[in-house]
Amino acid sequence: MTPTVSIQPQDALYWNKIRNDFPILQQSVNGYPLVYLDNAASSQKPQQVIDSIVHYYTTYNANVHRGVHTLSQKGTDAFEAARKKVQHFIGANSEKEIIFTKGTTNSVNLLAYTFSQQMLMPDDEILITAMEHHANLVPWQMACERTGAKLRVIPMNDEGELQLDQLDNLITDKTRLISVVHVSNALGTVNPVKYIIDKAHNHHIPVMIDGAQAIPHQPVNVKELDCDFYCFSGHKMCAPTGIGVLYAKQTWLEKLPPFEGGGEMISDVSFEKTTYNELPFKFEAGTPHIEGVIALGQAIDYLENIGMDAIYAREMYLHNLAYEKLNTIPGFIPVGKAAKKASVISFLIDGIHPYDLGVILDKQGIAVRTGHHCTQPIMKQFNIPGTVRASFAFYNSEQDVEFFIAAIKKAVKMLS
Ligand code: PLP
Repeated sequence: MTPTVSIQPQDALYWNKIRNDFPILQQSVNGYPLVYLDNAASSQKPQQVIDSIVHYYTTYNANVHRGVHTLSQKGTDAFEAARKKVQHFIGANSEKEIIFTKGTTNSVNLLAYTFSQQMLMPDDEILITAMEHHANLVPWQMACERTGAKLRVIPMNDEGELQLDQLDNLITDKTRLISVVHVSNALGTVNPVKYIIDKAHNHHIPVMIDGAQAIPHQPVNVKELDCDFYCFSGHKMCAPTGIGVLYAKQTWLEKLPPFEGGGEMISDVSFEKTTYNELPFKFEAGTPHIEGVIALGQAIDYLENIGMDAIYAREMYLHNLAYEKLNTIPGFIPVGKAAKKASVISFLIDGIHPYDLGVILDKQGIAVRTGHHCTQPIMKQFNIPGTVRASFAFYNSEQDVEFFIAAIKKAVKMLS
């Protein structure tokens, strides 16, 4: 595929070629063509990414950073080249600011643990929002339990939008950090994170952004955002599971203590004292997920080749197509109606349990997610047990939307 900025979201020839890069999508499930609409949970992987893993294991598998032999040096070069790709992909100042982790959850835990050790005192406050994934809630709660700090929450309205008029009251001289989800996985809300970051910085408060649902679907530039920390997972952006990133401004990484101890993160070890390695290795103890990092680099090449603007436009086109059709189904109740949304449709059909709907859709080859989507406080606010969530990726097709709508209509008939 040649990179271009002029790909149209409806260019069937182009997007069909892209879809063919994903071997898993060519199969039938329960006798129907697979319609994969669970992309917010995990994305599928293109052949190019799969090939990069096979290539690594069949030609230069060896541990990185420590070896003088050729394979180890090749592996180290590929590993560090991938770090550079991540740096450029998110617009970071330096590769020293890119810490490889197991994923968003691991990134938030790393930060919550080290930040609380260094920065939190009893009665200090951490500010999160009412729409956080549990991954950006529980680690901060645990940090508060350890230190005596308090968790405070920016509320949201019934549309699923943050009530930012309350921010001024919620920020106090005790606020030590604000941690906000960029795009809500359960509602699809795109939060105005730049506004929050600027406001926080006026009070000299650092901001962490949970970018798990933003990075795969839209351009993100951490320098322009000026966020202090940004987390994401590889598996939601066409890379393998078990690899993720914590971006942090270098000044913060220099200030914070290491998370885990062991090999690689040290400079000098004796029984009396250990000194720590330079950045980013101070935060990467032990043998890393080498093929995961290399494949993440390949996934970034793949996404950049299409272009994040083109990906965003394609996904919103599919989202809007599906939304218009869903809206004509009697009993359709969208959950999350923010003015600025990503390609996630969370919904209920009046009188039908989301789980039952999910099961009947699966029988027709449609993969959607049902339940609380690891956002129980959202479900509690809306007083619902969960939702059905259809989340679109650029490799979905108009036909996927058609099959999805037809399957819902059939399920509604069966379950009503
Ligand atoms: N944050 C958000 C908004 C998510 O959607 C998810 C996963 O669904 C996570 C965090 C956790 O990501 P992971 O399970 O890859 O660590």
